[in-house]
Amino acid sequence: MTKKSSLNPKTTKFEFGGVLGTMVMTVALPILSVILNQMIRPDYHIEGCFRNFDWNRVTQGLQPVSGLISNTRTWTYYILWFLSLLFFDTVLPGKWMQGITLRDGSSLWYKINGISVVAMLSLILAVRWKLTDGLMPELQYLYSHQVELCVVSIIFAFILACYCYVVSFIPLLFNKTNKEGTKEKILAVGGNSGNIIYDWFIGRELNPRIGPIDIKMFCELRPGMMLWLLINLSCLHNYYLEYDGKINDALLLINLLQGFYILDGVLNEEGVLSMMDITTDGFGFMLAFGDLTFVPFTYSLQARYLSVSPIHLGYVKFFSILSLMCLGYWIFHSSNSQKSKFRQGKLSHLKSIQTKRGTKLLCDGWWAKSQHMNYFGDWLISLSWCLTTWFQTPLTYYYSLYFATLLLHRQQRDEEKCHEKYGKDWEEYQRKVPYKIIPYVY
Ligand code: NDP
Repeated sequence: MTKKSSLNPKTTKFEFGGVLGTMVMTVALPILSVILNQMIRPDYHIEGCFRNFDWNRVTQGLQPVSGLISNTRTWTYYILWFLSLLFFDTVLPGKWMQGITLRDGSSLWYKINGISVVAMLSLILAVRWKLTDGLMPELQYLYSHQVELCVVSIIFAFILACYCYVVSFIPLLFNKTNKEGTKEKILAVGGNSGNIIYDWFIGRELNPRIGPIDIKMFCELRPGMMLWLLINLSCLHNYYLEYDGKINDALLLINLLQGFYILDGVLNEEGVLSMMDITTDGFGFMLAFGDLTFVPFTYSLQARYLSVSPIHLGYVKFFSILSLMCLGYWIFHSSNSQKSKFRQGKLSHLKSIQTKRGTKLLCDGWWAKSQHMNYFGDWLISLSWCLTTWFQTPLTYYYSLYFATLLLHRQQRDEEKCHEKYGKDWEEYQRKVPYKIIPYVY
């Protein structure tokens, strides 16, 4: 008889509408990503608003998608991209940092080398610019084959999620054992229900790894985020070629705003180590698809829209949008860093609640204004990006709407987790800081 696992309790609470909900999301989200791509393409897009919406054009555009599985060039480019980043991640220098303590008392080490990877990519781009006299054929390929690449990334995410699901059943290899002395891998609390579809979607294993590469951390910060940056750059580059070296101010602005956000995330990547995605979620289709497809191919929608429908912002709009981004970033960055410094034992003069679990809950500074001021700042940033397309189309505002839903869902998950973890101390914190995200509103 097998011993009942104390390390990996069975998942009893289902999220996202359970098995049915995850099945719907598995089908609907990839279709949504492809349709969003179809709606803004260099060869056509839906003019201005939805008034000229022609469903036939979208479905016609979807037809080549069926032939994509055999499109070797697109596959070669995508796999080369993924493998090159894996190679850079492995060989380029960086510092090693310890992740949070896991359920068995152990912790994992992560290589933090975002700066080296960004420097290497910049060098490659600069050399390519010089060698091709600014023509950059690979950037042009990326610009004109986005639907194909998007579909390839969806299939890739599907395969990666299947791989991670299967290997989660293989016990720890060689002489490795967990701190409990068994060969059992640590599974995600939410991804061990026993239902194949649900666990595959949520992610069964908490930290799947291939040698030194942590698949979850790698996917979170490298192939998707970097591709998002490149797609934006490809839009700017295409405009530059098409308009004989001219630069459009709105397109430049979205490149600056999102480029800054991406580089900030990659250069401060150690911050991810304490985020829910790394500490709590398993790596399944949800994260694989989110990181590899949804981020690069839908977060770049504003730049793509502006590359086919350029608008001139002028100084007033340009600097108003920039100011909104700066305000959002200031709230987002300073609130996150205030909590992080406080948790490191600094800023001890700030008011806090001592919990029975040992840790303190900050209820001063940003953390007195709402329970997640950092989410509010992040949302303002998302709004500034949408505003670069001004009010010419509602399509690009999908991002702010989607991000608000994501943050709201995240806040509810976090509240549930903290309530379970801190009990009465959390209730006291909620009395002291009643607003959840937006002060005096919610
Ligand atoms: P938080 O940074 O808000 O972290 C929540 C955790 O912090 C809680 O679980 C609790 O953990 C601890 N905590 C909560 N309240 C307090 C307090 N008052 N004092 C001290 N500790 C507290 O959330 P996330 O990890 O979800 O997000 C981090 C950042 O990442 C946010 O700025 C968010 O906007 C951003 N983000 C961006 C995404 C994107 O796609 N662009 C996606 C998701 C997040 P503990 O158990 O340690 O007490």
